[in-house]
Amino acid sequence: MSDNLYDLFRSRFPADRGRSFIETGDGRAYAYADLEAISGRYARLLAELGVAKGDRVAVQVEKSPEAVFLYLACLRAGAIYLPLNTAYTRAEIEYFLTDAEPRVFVCPPGQEEGFAATAAKAGVAHVLTLGPDGGGTLSEGAAGLAPEFPTVAASASDLAAILYTSGTTGRSKGAMMSHANLASNALTLHRYWGWRPEDVLLHALPIFHTHGLFVATNCVLLNGTAMLFLPKFDIDEVFRLLPRASVMMGVPTFYTRMLGDSRLDRAAAAHMRLFISGSAPLLADTHREFQQRTGHAILERYGMTETGMLTSNPLDGERIPGTVGFPLPGVELRVADPETARVLGPEEIGVIEVKGPNVFGGYWRMPEKTRAEFRPDGFFITGDVGKVDARGYVHIVGRAKDLVICGGYNVYPKEVETVIDALDGVVESAVVGVPHPDFGEAVVAVVLRRPGRGDVTEAGVIAACKEQLANYKVPKRVFFTEELPRNTMGKVQKNLLREEHRDLFA
Ligand code: AMP
Repeated sequence: MSDNLYDLFRSRFPADRGRSFIETGDGRAYAYADLEAISGRYARLLAELGVAKGDRVAVQVEKSPEAVFLYLACLRAGAIYLPLNTAYTRAEIEYFLTDAEPRVFVCPPGQEEGFAATAAKAGVAHVLTLGPDGGGTLSEGAAGLAPEFPTVAASASDLAAILYTSGTTGRSKGAMMSHANLASNALTLHRYWGWRPEDVLLHALPIFHTHGLFVATNCVLLNGTAMLFLPKFDIDEVFRLLPRASVMMGVPTFYTRMLGDSRLDRAAAAHMRLFISGSAPLLADTHREFQQRTGHAILERYGMTETGMLTSNPLDGERIPGTVGFPLPGVELRVADPETARVLGPEEIGVIEVKGPNVFGGYWRMPEKTRAEFRPDGFFITGDVGKVDARGYVHIVGRAKDLVICGGYNVYPKEVETVIDALDGVVESAVVGVPHPDFGEAVVAVVLRRPGRGDVTEAGVIAACKEQLANYKVPKRVFFTEELPRNTMGKVQKNLLREEHRDLFA
C-alpha cells in the first residue's frame, strides 16, 4: 500500500461493498461498489486525457455524489484535486486557472463554451462538465470505460489537493495539501470523535471547502459507513433526515437556524450521537440553548484550510461553550506575541501558532508568502488571536487582521462583542474599526436584537460597554441590523461592514 490517501480509505471500506456510501435527499443511493466503479472510470478517463501524477484538475460544480467520486478519482490518478467555490465569478475563475494551470477543468453543463476562451488562455487542455444529477461530458466520457483502475502510488509528501483560501483580503492563496496532511488529520478526527460502525453522517455542507470535504467526507470514508447527502442546508430536509442520522457537522448558522424552528426538541435529536460545529465561532448562547432544547452539547472544534483541524472540545469530558477545546493529538499549539514572537503563557492573548503532520507545506507558487507565515522553527502562524486557559482549553479572540487600533490602543473586537452579546435582548454583534480623523480607527458595533426588543438602544449598549470596558474599547457608534452579512461558511463578512460605515467619521 502506498501513501496514496485513496489506499488508506480503501483499506477501511466495508468487506460487503454493497453497503451504502451516499444517499441523496431525493433518494439516489450509491454503495461502496459504486464508489469504486465510478471513481475508477473517472480516473481512467482522466488518465486517457493525459492527466499524469501531479497534474491539477480544477472543479467548479454543484454538490453531488459524482463530485465526491471525482475527488476520489483524482486521488487514484495521482492528480491534484482543486475544488472551487461555486460562488466564484468567471473573472475569479480566470485567476485560479491561470495560477494553477490545471490540465482539466470541470464546470456545470452549459458553461463550457463560456469558459472556453479563459481555459485556452490558461493552457487548460480539456474542459468537461458535471451537473448536480451526475450528467455531463465527464460521465459520458467515462461511461464505456472499464471500472478497474490501479491506484497510482503516491508518497506522503505528494500533493493530493490545492484549496484556495477564502482570501477576504488580498489575493486568494492555494494551500498545498499532501496525502499525509489529509490522512493524518482524518485519522486523528476519526479516533478523537469516536466514530462507530453504525454512524450515519448528515452532510449539508458545501464540498469545495475543507469542512465538508476533508473533515466530513474523509471521516465517513475512514469509517466505511454512509452519509445522507443534501445539496445544501435545507431546514425541512434536515428535520426529515435527523431521525436516520447519528452525526451532524455544521457551521454555527445551521445551529442557529435549527434553534429558530419549533421542531427542534429532544425527540427530534433522539437518534443523534454527536453535533459538531466549526468554521466560525459558535456563540456560547447558541451552545446553551441547543443543550436545553435537545440535551446535546454541541462539540465545537477549530481549524483552517491550511492546517486542517487543530483543536476540539472533548468527546468525553466537558465541552465548554465559547472555547474550541484542546489541541488535537499530534498538534503542537502555542500562543506568541505577534511582534516579538515570544511564546506566551496560559491566559495570555497572542497569535496562535501550530505545527503538526496536518499542517500544509506552503502556498502554491508563493514561496515568499509561505516563508512569511512560518516561524524559523516550523510553526505556522495562523493569524488567529487567542489564548490557552489554565485548564488547557483554547479560546479564539479574533483574527490578527481584525484588530482595531484606536488612538494607539489595541482593541480585539471579540472582547467587545462578548460584552454586547451578553446584554439582555441582544442575539449577536459584530465589531469593526472604521477610519477616524483623531483616533486613526474608531470602534463601531453592528447589533442584531431579539425580535420585539426595540428597547435595546444605541445609548443603552454604549452605557453597558462603558461599565465593563476601558473607554477606548467602547463603540463610538452602534447600529442595528436584521441580519449580519455572512459567507457560505457562516463567517461574518466584516469587510462589508467596514465598507458600509467607512465614511462615518470622514
Ligand atoms: P477557513 O480556512 O475558511 O476554514 O477559515 C479558517 C478560519 O476560520 C480560522 O483561521 C478561524 O479564524 C475561523 N474558525 C474556524 N473554526 C472556528 C471556531 N470554531 N471558532 C472561531 N473561529 C473559527
